[in-house]
Amino acid sequence: MKTARRTATLGASATVAITSRAKALVAEGVDLVTLSAGEPDFAAPGFVLDATVEALRAGHTSYAPVGGVPALRDAVAERFTRDYGVPFTRDQVIVTVGGKEALYDLFQVLVDPGDEVIVPAPYWVSYPTQIAMAGGRAVTVPCDASRGHALDIEALKAALTTRTVGVVLNSPNNPSGAVYDAESLGALADLAVQHDLWIISDDIYSAIRYDDTPFTSILHVRPELRERVFIVHGVAKTWAMTGFRVGFLAGSRVVLGRCMAVQSQTITSATTFAQHGALAAITGDDAFLGPWLAAYDARRRLVHAALEAMPGVRCALPSGAFYAFPDMRGLLDKRHRGDLVGNDRHLAELLLERAHVAVVPGSAFGSPGFLRLSYACATDRLALGLERIAAFVAELS
Ligand code: GLU
Repeated sequence: MKTARRTATLGASATVAITSRAKALVAEGVDLVTLSAGEPDFAAPGFVLDATVEALRAGHTSYAPVGGVPALRDAVAERFTRDYGVPFTRDQVIVTVGGKEALYDLFQVLVDPGDEVIVPAPYWVSYPTQIAMAGGRAVTVPCDASRGHALDIEALKAALTTRTVGVVLNSPNNPSGAVYDAESLGALADLAVQHDLWIISDDIYSAIRYDDTPFTSILHVRPELRERVFIVHGVAKTWAMTGFRVGFLAGSRVVLGRCMAVQSQTITSATTFAQHGALAAITGDDAFLGPWLAAYDARRRLVHAALEAMPGVRCALPSGAFYAFPDMRGLLDKRHRGDLVGNDRHLAELLLERAHVAVVPGSAFGSPGFLRLSYACATDRLALGLERIAAFVAELS
């Protein structure tokens, strides 16, 4: 029997696959330290759980309208109006099954076969694949580690062609932890206008930052570009609600209308009672977040100091999100118990098998030679994982 070519070479998401493998090993009893998962180790706030249970009991168990529960769309519009300083109304926001579905729908609606989308690297694993699933091509533009993975506007300019239709932004960045500054966002906005490009701004980590300056998205810098900017967001990271699978997409009504047609033919709606939990989250008190951010901040410093102390390893201090992205290229020509490390994939494999620490290889994010370590995990486990990596590195010859 025949299968379609479309998915014949489609691989699994590296972040999801490695974390699933780590969970399976833990279930088998392996004392594994999982630093691969991009999900908070905290439990979702109690008021969110209460609202979700109440929604179930109140009978919110049938289909929600395509585009989302109206009260949630209104609440997101209100919150984005406040957070971005640009007025949003219900028809400029839809609810999706996580940020992932928002991105998938957008690429389906914006990208024709042969179109190119610029993706600064390192990038979150699924952007290039989702662009390819729409028939397009991701053109990756490296953001150099020596410049803190800042946007490289000159390299971005050089990557533009007549086929370029858009740019994906992700700040705070997964995996590098970089936060883009207003100046580079302004320069990018100019390019978007000159070349008539869409900008897809994945702001899912906007609340997870470690300095006191307000969050800066391209919409803050150039509010007049709102018709070409899409905001991708959701409750997963800020409220530790990854399993709720509730995301948000804001932008042009026309494009959102098409995304709703895609939803109508695929998912119908995000889970109804989960949307009620999300409504409680985004309208509730954010006070829970202060202690979480303090914990992430302490872990960020711990992971940074530990990695920098390892010979041959360099790591920038992340400014946002909850990932460290060390440069391991200094270790690749070394051997562990006689076996050549060789590349980041093999290094991650050796760390999993011999040090019992799960991390994600940088090549999955377009940066070979790097590793991603999530510090959204209990501090004592993180410290143990770092000790194990240090011991592994000390054994290299
Ligand atoms: N976004 C998270 C990560 O990067 C969750 C897994 C995924 O969907 O990629 O680890």
